[in-house]
Order: sequence, then C-alpha cells, then structure tokens
Amino acid sequence: MIIAANWKMHKTREETLEFLKEFVSRSGEIREGIQAVICPPFTFLYEAGEKQAEGNFRLGAQNMHWEKEGAFTGEVSPIMLEDAGVRYVVLGHSERRHVMGETDQVINRKMKVLADYNLAPIFCVGETEQERDEGRTGEVLKRQVRQGLQEVDLNVLQKMVIAYEPVWAIGTGRAAYPEDAREAAETIRRTLDEFDSDLGDKTNILYGGSVKEGNIAGFTTLPQIQGALVGGASLKPDSFIGLIKAAQEAG
Ligand code: PEP
Repeated sequence: MIIAANWKMHKTREETLEFLKEFVSRSGEIREGIQAVICPPFTFLYEAGEKQAEGNFRLGAQNMHWEKEGAFTGEVSPIMLEDAGVRYVVLGHSERRHVMGETDQVINRKMKVLADYNLAPIFCVGETEQERDEGRTGEVLKRQVRQGLQEVDLNVLQKMVIAYEPVWAIGTGRAAYPEDAREAAETIRRTLDEFDSDLGDKTNILYGGSVKEGNIAGFTTLPQIQGALVGGASLKPDSFIGLIKAAQEAG
C-alpha cells in the first residue's frame, strides 16, 4: 500500500523539518508493506531527501519540467529531482491541469522523459464536477490515460502509480463514495490494458480527494485501490500517521 502526502504550497523550512523529525521518530508505528511518500515543496527537497535514510518514507516532488536543463525560467528538471534524492514525482495533478493550464500533451511530454530517470510517476487523473454530472467520468478518464501515456516507455508504465482524484473531491471535504472510486479504478485498469495486456491489473491505483483518518479504510480495503494521495490531512504528523494507521489496521 502506498500513502502519499501532497503538501502543495504549504510549510516553511522550519515546519518541514519539525514534521520530518516527528515522522521519523514515529516510523516504527508504520508496518512493513506500507510505503509512505512525502512530497514537500521544491525548496525543501534536499533536506527532506537526507532524512529518507533515517525514516520510513520516500521523497516525492509535486511537479517537474520535461527538459534536463535549459532556458526554462522557474522550472525544475528531472535531473535536479534525482540529485535531491527524489523517488516519485506527481504529474498531472488537477491543480496543474486546471489552475496552471497543463494539457494532456504537456503531461505526456513529462511522462515520456521518465524513461531516462530513476523517478516513478504518480500520474493523476480525474473528472471535474461538471463532467461527472454530465455522466462523462469514464470518457474523461480514458482520454487522460490514453493521451497522457501515449508512446510512454513500458518501463515507465511499469513503475507508474496512478492517482484517481475526482477534481470535485480535492480539498472540499467531500470525498467520493468508495463505490465510485472502485468503478473509476476499473475503467483506468481496462484502459491501461490497451498499452500492455496485464498492465491494468499490475498497476497500483491510489484514491485522492478529501481522504482523512475516518474515511481512508473505505478506499484502501477495496481490492481495486492500493493506497491514497492525501493533501490537507497530510500536513500534520499526527493526522498523516493517524490515517496511515487507520489504513493498516483495516488491513
Ligand atoms: C491532493 O492534493 O491531491 C488532495 C487529494 O488533496 P485533499 O486530500 O486535501 O483533498
């Protein structure tokens, strides 16, 4: 099971170090078989990367550019992430798609270059509220998967984790019903099979969108879901460890 913390644009350096100190000291509470991933803002990656050796977590980044280097003011490259000890990179998060205007094509360029780096993508997909109300969830998920993964190396697809995050559930306190997450995960898996016959069943799919200690087990106990991507409830060590424990206790 993978439980990933997406801190978005939150925390100072001091708050980051405090969180990691407590998280590392409580690592013993996390059972084997649960992979915690922490994705802080870029400025804290190096220091957080050094703490990986002490604690039971892997470092993730929230985004990256597709080029190795060059005239791309304000961007961070995959080689810089590797250098900081990053293992996972979130790509296609709904805030990148809908606030920063990233298209399926832009996300696809980023996915493609991962063949050259030791970074596993956490590839995010999910429908907006309007798309859901129009009964287009399946169609949107298929498009995002087909276009986002077009011509992506099989090695990348095999190390990829997918996060199903309905846009209307992110940061709203209104999580999806587990049944909806199950159905979405099934659609994603059958679309992945178009890339390689058993890719769908082999891929880890996380649910994201207002996950907290009280509702995580409803998702992680589904055979179709292998963990969660968590925003707001990952910002405090107590809350993040609490939801990891709730997931592990539910089995
Ligand atoms: C997210 O940032 O990916 C997310 C799911 O946020 P939240 O848990 O706050 O809804």
